[in-house]
Amino acid sequence: MNAPDKVAALAPTVKLLINGQFVESKTTQWRDVVNPATQQVLARVPFATAEEIDAAVASAKEAFKTWKKTPIGTRARIFLKLQQLIRDNMKELAALLTAEQGKTLPDAEGDVFRGLEVVEHAANIGTLQLGELANNVANGVDTYTLLQPLGVCAGITPFNFPAMIPLWMFPMAIATGNTFVLKPSEQDPMVTMRLCELALQAGVPPGVLNVVHGGEAAVNAICDHADIKAISFVGSTKVGTHVYNRASLAGKRVQCMMGAKNHAIVMPDANKEQTLNALAGAAFGAAGQRCMALSVAVLVGEARQWIPELVEKAKTLKVSGGTEAGTDVGPLVSCAALERVTGLIDRGVAEGAKLELDGRKPDVKGYEKGNFVGPTIFSGVKPGMSVYDQEIFGPVLCIAGADDIDQAIELINANPNGNGTAIFTQSGAAARKFQEEIDVGQVGINVPIPVPVPLFSFTGSRASKLGDLGPYGKQVVMFYTQTKTVTARWFDDSTTSHGVNTTISL
Ligand code: NAD
Repeated sequence: MNAPDKVAALAPTVKLLINGQFVESKTTQWRDVVNPATQQVLARVPFATAEEIDAAVASAKEAFKTWKKTPIGTRARIFLKLQQLIRDNMKELAALLTAEQGKTLPDAEGDVFRGLEVVEHAANIGTLQLGELANNVANGVDTYTLLQPLGVCAGITPFNFPAMIPLWMFPMAIATGNTFVLKPSEQDPMVTMRLCELALQAGVPPGVLNVVHGGEAAVNAICDHADIKAISFVGSTKVGTHVYNRASLAGKRVQCMMGAKNHAIVMPDANKEQTLNALAGAAFGAAGQRCMALSVAVLVGEARQWIPELVEKAKTLKVSGGTEAGTDVGPLVSCAALERVTGLIDRGVAEGAKLELDGRKPDVKGYEKGNFVGPTIFSGVKPGMSVYDQEIFGPVLCIAGADDIDQAIELINANPNGNGTAIFTQSGAAARKFQEEIDVGQVGINVPIPVPVPLFSFTGSRASKLGDLGPYGKQVVMFYTQTKTVTARWFDDSTTSHGVNTTISL
């Protein structure tokens, strides 16, 4: 064993959560959780065995028997407590997230906060999980609906929002009366585990929330497991499509939020300063590792002249470790991601896009081993180039031009993805035309990353989503429940009997 391997072997292990206990995996397959700014090994995460995954599902199945009968107010109060615990531990959660994922500390707090909003929403479950009633649909007959939990649900999450996305899933699944098995990203599972600890502290009973770790094999086991009724997935289009197909075939309800290529149209009448700030923030924040990151700016008409100012703005952003004060752009999550993003920038150059700003190999003092790429801007980008066709998931902004809004809308609608889009303009008419004609599920008007709050749902579309219903909000209450429709008549002694009736009527 060489020296770095010895250090890694001493790193703490990430536990599984089965039946309310944090347990050490018996697996022989482990992966290092690495600080992407320094390459320090923070922990080792297990790839759970098939028996451990079965045990987690069995514990959730058993817990469902009592949890589904737990009064809605009791369930709601757990999330009221959890939101307070998350607030109390915000700094610690953000520090953990930055250490394993790389994003800046303020952005890590944002990650936790956007998840916290869903916990607050789950605390409202009493007003969300309401059925409907129609009185006297026939003589003496009432019809009403019950929104009943499904049973064991599972969640599979990506690396880029290790707090927010698990919190999109388990609070609403559990609040609606289901039990849950979570499979966090194996790249950064530590903050997710801390959130699960807080959930137990808030009163989530043993077996109601379980966690298994792993990669492909764990995900496939979840897709195939006969006792899992529904799966929420967030991650890449390739894996999400596989999960959707495999789990649907096994009879499950599935929702998959997937990859993106988000465009923003910049009209020449837009407020220049605010628009350029918004573009730079949305393209380079979180090192471009957001599914709602802005990856293509479509500059319309005279706005094409704004490129030099955008480049100057991007140059002012500080690239450094996420814990350093004033950092704007942290590292990419892994050495593999660094290689991928750098390789795509190389291809952009080779394929003829104009490199306006080159972020490859930035000089980051004190973090020489980190996975850094600085803000990078290409202009003259067209469909057919790799930097346009692929989701780069790095701090790379592609600029395309258009003569007018129609041409810009046509470009966006021809792209297969439909996660998010934005327009920058001072014209209400242009904004309204965009809102009506754009074929993308989440639209920003002078808002660069239009991730809806939990009063609404996350409504990506086309290749960015499979399944009808989105995570959180009203849609997820429908996703995590089965509507049961009851048609009832109560007889009393005065009810006249009309004998046997063989026609279809009430
Ligand atoms: P990923 O698809 O590689 O991983 C997601 C999950 O799938 C992880 O838990 C991982 O362990 C598992 N997985 C990975 N490879 C697998 C395989 N071959 N078979 C089965 N399971 C596998 O995604 P990622 O790199 O962690 O996250 C980035 C991607 O997620 C980007 O494409 C981004 O756009 C997308 N994303 C989408 C949204 C959204 O709401 N639309 C939000 C966040 C991230």
